[in-house]
Amino acid sequence: MTAQILDGKSVAAEIRQEVAAAVAKYVADSAAAAPCLTAVLVGEDPASQVYVRNKARACEKAGIDGRTHRLPADAGQAELMRLIAELNADPGVNGILVQLPLPSGGTTKYDEREILDAIDPMKDVDAFSPVNVGLLMQGRPRFLPCTPHGIVQLLGRSGLSVAGKKVCVVGRSDIVGKPMAMMLAQKTGSCGPGVANATVTLAHSRTADLAAVCREADCLIAAVGRPEMITGDMIKPGAIVIDVGINRVGDKLVGDVAFDDAKQVASAITPVPGGVGPLTIAMLLHNTLAAAKLQS
Ligand code: NAP
Repeated sequence: MTAQILDGKSVAAEIRQEVAAAVAKYVADSAAAAPCLTAVLVGEDPASQVYVRNKARACEKAGIDGRTHRLPADAGQAELMRLIAELNADPGVNGILVQLPLPSGGTTKYDEREILDAIDPMKDVDAFSPVNVGLLMQGRPRFLPCTPHGIVQLLGRSGLSVAGKKVCVVGRSDIVGKPMAMMLAQKTGSCGPGVANATVTLAHSRTADLAAVCREADCLIAAVGRPEMITGDMIKPGAIVIDVGINRVGDKLVGDVAFDDAKQVASAITPVPGGVGPLTIAMLLHNTLAAAKLQS
């Protein structure tokens, strides 16, 4: 079997076009200013700088006002909290995102949880705040977290459903694994059309016999951050494989799944790069428009 390659790049382009059209309509219909997304970048981490630049470019193409606030790595918790309070109070800012990770190597330490908790839940376009996580958990989401939402869109738009199927999510981070599991296990389609009623296993570093647990899954979602740790023998023949991992190995980017090996076994698989990655920014644009509409 050779798997269908799930082309995240083209699905993301489609969503970005849809968001751009919806932004233009929103601005024309409500005579409002363009939705505004403000990113906060602390320090000089090169990868974070690239991510923030890419987000700003994507905003511009969608007709969204993308701004970036830069603070030095040693700005400190109080200064960052002051900036968040200022952005919360600014009616011209619809979405706030703090680029993670915050600097941790120097003498200035940040309490990431306190910073994320301080973002106004109505402007929390990453959907990390406890209020938005709680709403998602209860099946009445305000914003869906961008990476899991991108995966849901990719599955849906590729004609793949996981309803009634066994899904294994490997990785239990607050950003990807946990919300992904929660979204797929909902009873109704509150997290997107067809996104419900999967039987979900959430695996992690303490899971006993991970290979056997993975082999049970009709859909395997890897969000671990370990290059190519999911090998073909861990995949049920015909399973859908979604690779969230982005790992730099030398000058190459690789996923958490050994792609060449896995594509011989899976029925559908995402590549890295060009799979899940592009969808995350597309869903951030979607959430920014949703935030602007909610606030108007
Ligand atoms: P994270 O916060 O580091 O969490 C990693 C998870 O993997 C943890 O739950 C950990 O288990 C689990 N894990 C680690 N080693 C394992 C092992 N040997 N077997 C089973 N589970 C193991 O990572 P994250 O933020 O979710 O990111 C995961 C990957 O996705 C990274 O490569 C990241 O770059 C990528 N990512 C991509 C996007 C995108 O847009 N495509 C977005 C976000 C993240 P414990 O909980 O037991 O420690």
